[in-house]
Amino acid sequence: MIAYKCFEMHTHTLHSDGDFTLTELCARAADFLYDAVAVTDHNTMSALDGLPAIPVGGVPVIPGIEWTTYYGHMVVLGADEYVDWRFARPETIDEYTQAIKNVGGVIGIAHPFEFGSPLCTGCYWDFKVQNWEAIDYIEVWSDPFPHSKLKNHLAFNWWNSLLNEGHHLAATAGWDWHGLEKGKPPLPPATWLGLREGRIDTANVREALERGRSFVTLGPFAELSLTGENGQSYGPGETIVTGNYRLELRVDESRRRKVWSPFGIAAKTIRLVHRGTVLAILPYHPESPVLTADLKLKPGWLRVEGYGDYMGAEDKLLFFSSPIYIA
Ligand SMILES: [Zn+2]
Ligand SMILES: [Zn+2]
Repeated sequence: MIAYKCFEMHTHTLHSDGDFTLTELCARAADFLYDAVAVTDHNTMSALDGLPAIPVGGVPVIPGIEWTTYYGHMVVLGADEYVDWRFARPETIDEYTQAIKNVGGVIGIAHPFEFGSPLCTGCYWDFKVQNWEAIDYIEVWSDPFPHSKLKNHLAFNWWNSLLNEGHHLAATAGWDWHGLEKGKPPLPPATWLGLREGRIDTANVREALERGRSFVTLGPFAELSLTGENGQSYGPGETIVTGNYRLELRVDESRRRKVWSPFGIAAKTIRLVHRGTVLAILPYHPESPVLTADLKLKPGWLRVEGYGDYMGAEDKLLFFSSPIYIA
């Protein structure tokens, strides 16, 4: 049984350039109704020394590191050891990603289109990846309020083009949470991961990201499945063969509603996107949260996208699944 849990996937503590102790971060994450938080300080895992499984008064922690170089940043979760980042160069990144995989790390490219030097040295992704097998996910949305950032549009489009080239890559969001929110309260996008038995631990998170069981949202959670003529059902990250399928999407507006409802979020339509092309647009009404469609699927990939109202604007992308792949 796969059950989805909600994560903040990219955070910093006092051990790098964040404001929080680990305990403060976990407590604040509980206020945002996350089920767990990945701690990804720049080039250190020292905040995690002596970590109890569940810090007192907060959510559980998934150990990670932000592999921070002059040529790009990677969020790496679950690695048992440090892999030295100092000598990685754009042309040699594949050696390093393989070394990270060898010590159990799951690898995501962080904020690939963040401004680079001189605003944020190394934040832009300049590494020349040849071996995409070693990359598990892309942080497609970074920061709260992702619509206002050009870098998120560019990252989303880049993810699409990589999928169209045949790579299997999950999508995540990361607040890149550094500390206390200044001014208006933020609405960080969240990443839901499909975990075996819903168990929150490092091995399960690694598996979910390697398999591509993820969902990114500013508001409602939704679970996608395709059922074939043989009665077998498949979800995000899985690979199916071409043929006839019944799509089912179950939208759940109850989870974390307290966090996102103040931002005027209301889903209105669901788009079924096949290899970058919209196959169908289904109207969505909260009183009928289960949508179905019969599809004849050709090779490529399929994901769902939810659109609707957001902070006074209409027809904004509110959520999207990682793809189901069609061989
Ligand atoms: Zn970074
Ligand atoms: Zn960061």
